[in-house]
This record gives sequence, C-alpha cells and structure tokens, in this order.
Amino acid sequence: MSNYEEIMKLALERGFYFPSCEIYADAPAGFWEYGPTGVGLKNKFIDLWRRELVRRDGMLEIDGCQIMSKSVFVASGHLDNFTDPIIKCSNCKSTFRADRYIAERTGENISERSDDLNMDATIKKYDLRCPNCNGTFEKVNRFNMMFGLGIGPNADPAYLRPETCQTIFVDFGRVFKTMRGKLPLGIAQIGKSFRNEISPRQSLLRLREFYQAEIEVFCNPYKLDDLQQFQDVKDTVLNLYDGTSNVEVTADEGLTKSLLPNKLVAYYLCLLNEFYAKTGIDMKRTRFRRLSDDEKAFYSSIGFDFEVETSVGWLELVACNYRSDYDLRRHALTSKHNLEVIDPSDNSKVLPHVFELSMGIESFYDDSGSIGRRYRRLEEIGVPFVVTADKTTMEDDTVTVRYRDSMQQERVKVSALVQFFRNALSTEPKIG
Ligand SMILES: [Zn+2]
Repeated sequence: MSNYEEIMKLALERGFYFPSCEIYADAPAGFWEYGPTGVGLKNKFIDLWRRELVRRDGMLEIDGCQIMSKSVFVASGHLDNFTDPIIKCSNCKSTFRADRYIAERTGENISERSDDLNMDATIKKYDLRCPNCNGTFEKVNRFNMMFGLGIGPNADPAYLRPETCQTIFVDFGRVFKTMRGKLPLGIAQIGKSFRNEISPRQSLLRLREFYQAEIEVFCNPYKLDDLQQFQDVKDTVLNLYDGTSNVEVTADEGLTKSLLPNKLVAYYLCLLNEFYAKTGIDMKRTRFRRLSDDEKAFYSSIGFDFEVETSVGWLELVACNYRSDYDLRRHALTSKHNLEVIDPSDNSKVLPHVFELSMGIESFYDDSGSIGRRYRRLEEIGVPFVVTADKTTMEDDTVTVRYRDSMQQERVKVSALVQFFRNALSTEPKIG
C-alpha cells in the first residue's frame, strides 16, 4: 500500500474524515464529513491562519452566504468560463474529463485550459475510444462546474459559490467604507465552496464541497513597490520554481532578479512561507511555482502555486493569483455600482487591484517518517507528547516523555513534569 493510501486509511480509522451519506448506496462521490479528530485539526489550522495571517497583517474577516445571485457569476465570468472539457461516448454516452482522459491514456500533458480543437486532434491522433464500449467520442464539450439552484417557488436562478472570494469582491465597497479601510487592505474569509467536479476520486484532493480560507488583498496598483512592511520580511528565504529549476533566494534577491514581480506580492508570499513554517511542515519540501500562461486561471495575470512534495507528487496548497482589477471592474460594470475608493495615503481615486491567497483547508500533508508502534495511535491524532510510566518509574520516580515531532524520548522526574510542559508548550505551537 502506498504511503498515500495508508494516510487515507488511517484518516478513516481515526475519525479525521469519512464519506458523506455513507450508509446509503446513492451517496455521491466528492463529499466528506470531518470526524471529531478532523474538526480538532481543522480548528487548530484555522486558529493559526487567523493569528499568523489575518491578525498579523491587520486584515478584516467576513463570513458570507454560500448561495449567491446569478448576476454575481455573470459578472465574475464563471457562468461562461468556469468549465471543464468533457468527452462523451457517442454510443453509451459515458462522460469523461477530456484533459485527464487524454493524459492517462497517452501520457501527453494536456492543460485543462488547452484548446478544445487541440484535444479533439489528440483524441483522433491516438484513436482514443470509450473504455466501456470501445465507442468513438463526440467532440470535446464544456461542462460548467457550478451547482445551480432555484430560489423560492419560482425557482429564481442562483448558484452555490464556486469560490468564497466572490463574496469578498461583492462586499468590498461596504467593508472598505464601514471599516474606514486603507490600501492595501486584506479581507479574509473561511467558508465553504462548491464545485460540480466531473469525476472526483475518493480523496480529499478534489472535492465537490470544501472549505476555503481565502485572502484578497486590495491594493493601489500604482503603489505595489511602496510597502513599508516589506522591510520586515525582506530576508525571508523563498524556494522559487519556474518550471525547470529551483532557486533559493531571499525575497529581496527575488525582486532584484525579477523572479518576483513587486514588493506587495513578495511580502505576502513571505507571510505565507512563515505561516506554513509554523504549521510544522517540512519547508525543504515546499516551493512557490510560477505558473505558465496556460496554467493560470482566467482571471489571473501573475500566479504562483505554493506546493508541497508528498508521496503522490507535488500538491498545491495555496493558489496565489494577482487578479488585477478584473473582479472589481466586472462587478462594477454589471451591478452599476461604482467600486472605486479613495486611497487615504494621497487622496487619489482608484479601482483597487487584488492579490489573492487562496487555500483549500482539506489539502493535507503526508509524512513518510516511521512511527513507533507504541505511540502511534496518539501521535497520529496529533498529541504532541506522550508520557509513559514503566518499571523504572517505581524505582526512581521518572517517566519517559516522547516528543511527537522528533520522536525523541527523555526521562523526566515526575515532580519536574509541570515545569517541563510549561517550558515545552510556551514555544510556538505546531500543527502535526
Ligand atoms: Zn461507450
């Protein structure tokens, strides 16, 4: 069994999470419940996120509705663009996600943003057929991944939000005004988003209902290099990956070498880096990967994925996108509300640009370290220390204390235990 499968099995057995509606045969894939241990871990993660990102930077947090009006998604572009390419068997009508199917069968790396004609050509070139009946495929089509809803007896169209940030964009004007905002201003939100994925595998990596922790930093586009706070983080070492090679640079060097576009983006990548270091993740196995043009989301002009290396390859933990004024401009246009604000620093009127840090809370980290059997169960659910009394305890009044993270052990006098834990727990708490 692979390390990944083991972690999945463990998570089920220990009550981290389990499939939704699992006692029924018609339980749809892609929906998971957090069990008691999972809720504990999730809450710890959220506490750290609030402390190290939201409060540290003086951001404002909101908690918005999950159902939003159709106009929101006309404006955001999701109605037209939030689609996956699909192929349908012309015989048995089985449907597959085109880019994945092609990649699995041919090994050719097809981007989901790739041109439909390009995918049609690849299907033809390899003569790809339906795995169920060997039928041929119809032309590549587009499937919108939003869940549609009908509000009230007339079923007025609305949607479950496919990303929490739309609430932030729609609320921006009010929040900026009522909270007397200054630029840059981070507005943060934790909440659920919904995506009607075509064939989610049974894992937490692709879900139809999931938590997002999103931060939208509203900024003055003329002052992206005008950021005092950058001084505090300029020596932070970032691991940058441009698709071919890894470069370890300080944020300052990253700017000089044009690996980072401006101080504002650099500053927030540094905060993110420091945040993840505090979760206890092995930072040597992380990187910021600069996205190529055909990998970027339709609203993004500069994108970095913060990734971690696991036993199933590099996984995205955070999507960092410079969304420019795409969202506010479109919402202003569609709603006919002026979303420009006055930048109090020079009283200029500006339509802010947005830099986004978007994380899925369910993304998790697997660790290949071996764990001693005896302590395993407790360590797996995140208990930081295990104290064991044994024969020697009866003789010299000492117990064994085992550290979860280092798996080291030491003997401590029973009378000194309180002080021992006071010291140990006064250092930065970590999430295991
Ligand atoms: Zn078929």
